[in-house]
Amino acid sequence: MTTAMIDLARPDYRDIPVYSPLGSDASCAVDVSDTVNLWGAPPSALRALVELPADAVARYGALYATGLKAPLAAYAGVAPDQIVIGCGSDDVLDCALRAFGEPGATVAHPAPSFSMIPAYARANGMTPAAVPLAGDDYAVDADGLLATGARVIYLCSPNNPTSTRTSREAVLRVVERAPGLVIIDEAYAEFAGESYAAQAAGWGRVLVTRTMSKAFGMAGLRVGYGVGAASIVREIEKARGPYKTTAPAERAVAAALAHDVPWMQSRVRDAVANRERLLAALRALGLRPAPSAANFVFVPTPGAAALARRMREMGVAVRLFTGLPGDVPALRDANGEALRLAVGPWETMQTVLDVLEEALG
Ligand code: PMP
Repeated sequence: MTTAMIDLARPDYRDIPVYSPLGSDASCAVDVSDTVNLWGAPPSALRALVELPADAVARYGALYATGLKAPLAAYAGVAPDQIVIGCGSDDVLDCALRAFGEPGATVAHPAPSFSMIPAYARANGMTPAAVPLAGDDYAVDADGLLATGARVIYLCSPNNPTSTRTSREAVLRVVERAPGLVIIDEAYAEFAGESYAAQAAGWGRVLVTRTMSKAFGMAGLRVGYGVGAASIVREIEKARGPYKTTAPAERAVAAALAHDVPWMQSRVRDAVANRERLLAALRALGLRPAPSAANFVFVPTPGAAALARRMREMGVAVRLFTGLPGDVPALRDANGEALRLAVGPWETMQTVLDVLEEALG
């Protein structure tokens, strides 16, 4: 019975793994495994949720979260018809692949990069093509990505999980020469102080994706957005369908954009300062963290799996990666194993460092 039901799924779909990241453990006293805002959520968003009118629950919100387009456009420096909003930027990415890459098409991405991209490509009947990062600076191979001839090329800056920025030269080379859609995933752009959102619409073939989940501290509400030419946005909205975000989330995001951009900017300044301090402390422990432009650090290290297990036993959850590809010396020396730690308040970081030092023995 069970086998017969599994066989109903598309053959090229059956062996896509269900997303199950290594290392998350909500029962740990300290959890730095997710790259969210460890300071919490914007106060105005919490107030908006407490003061929700019944209609925000009883009725549907706007078809395409239309009310959020103007405030998100103002924040991103574009026009409202250049914004598409989704249930997290995950949703925008998935819909963009579906809209712009027909079944059988290639989706090229750097490796390692955001693990959902190959999964969404395959779920939409496309073939992911991984192009390894290389060198001590985790450089993106623009020509390697272009050489795949992919219908969709995905870039991520700062890149998850490596925390590294994608060079401007690589971005511009891909944008100038790609035959199809170029996605620039900027989930962590606020921490890098660098964005292509304002240029995306003018480029025509580019979609920049952003999110309220990271710097803005609203991951649980699931609101992300894409920025691109109005014609690109329209195609993605078709793939997305109506009512993808919730009316309570839309109200909370509107409140945060109206009142708490300074709150977010202050948390970003703290995260950047603590990131630099954490990187120095990790190097002092003899580790080789990647140069980070995000709110997390990436630490290739041999035996990372055992380290993560020992840290969890001591009450600290970190994200574990194994079998990572890439032509990066630190990653090669670590047999493709790495830990990823989110950056938060310094007391949290000090606990993480103390436990890591003890786990290292
Ligand atoms: N892109 C990248 C690079 C990410 O790390 C994440 C979060 N894991 C996302 C997109 C999706 O975030 P969300 O759906 O919460 O916007």
